[in-house]
Amino acid sequence: MSHPDAQSSGAPTNPIGIHAGVWVGDWTPASAEYAIRESARAGFDLIEIPVRDPRTTDLALTRHLLADHGIDAVVSLALGAHLDINTEDAASSDRGERMLDDAITFARGVGASYIGGVLYSKMAKYTHAATPASRNNSLAVLRRVAAKAEDAGIRLGMEYVNRYESNLLNTARQTVDFIAELGADNVLLHIDTFHANLEETDQATAVRDAGDLLGYIHAAENHRGYLGSGSIDWPGLFRQLVLSGFTGPITFESFSSDIVSQETSDDIGLWRNLWDDPADLARSANDFLRTGLAAAHRAHAQLSPRPLVSTH
Ligand code: MN
Repeated sequence: MSHPDAQSSGAPTNPIGIHAGVWVGDWTPASAEYAIRESARAGFDLIEIPVRDPRTTDLALTRHLLADHGIDAVVSLALGAHLDINTEDAASSDRGERMLDDAITFARGVGASYIGGVLYSKMAKYTHAATPASRNNSLAVLRRVAAKAEDAGIRLGMEYVNRYESNLLNTARQTVDFIAELGADNVLLHIDTFHANLEETDQATAVRDAGDLLGYIHAAENHRGYLGSGSIDWPGLFRQLVLSGFTGPITFESFSSDIVSQETSDDIGLWRNLWDDPADLARSANDFLRTGLAAAHRAHAQLSPRPLVSTH
């Protein structure tokens, strides 16, 4: 679905998504039904679903709910501390690789063609820098996983995160180098504005550095609350996305400990809540992203040479 503001400018529209964590902290049939229904009702084109055990989740139900409500899904994953592949510990690496394989099974089962997140290391604070051996192990695992994903028609997004949540990929530039070394066509770069805010010169620089590899964006405020209520330079980001011709998904990400699990809250350092009404938050984010993108497209069109129009 596309938004009237963007249509009136004749500009291509990015699919706009929402993280399931705005609505639910698990993926029971009732949670899946609620999260997918509310995402569609709030006007989103897609929902991002954190991976669950494909052996114990009703994947067909999710697929059918998505079809019924007319929205798409992507899958996300952040490797836990015992699942690190950015390591010289073979047992941890094996567990992490099995988790990544499960993510492919889950994504295929729900009909998603993108898995993004912290797929290359654990998402946790390291107490040391990555070693050449741990980095090479991550690359070797991801080459095998990318080949399986390719066979399943799935692309993988490497979401770089801030220095406190990984020691391996903290900037777009590092991620471009990592993906080049990985050498698989179905591996893309995933920018999260919250993480970029901590590590990059600015949001536009991150987008420029990502170049043609940019596949997906997490839109999150610097404090991870309502979009537009913090210090992220959204106009600068939208302007650069338009200049770069980025047409991929932009997904709103925000969490409340009242909704997500204790484990998730602990993993991401969610010690205070910035909202209490998920439906209001979701509608606000959807409007903010579509309005901002449409404005950037209009400004770009006004600056660009007009096509010659016959006057007779
Ligand atoms: Mn993110």
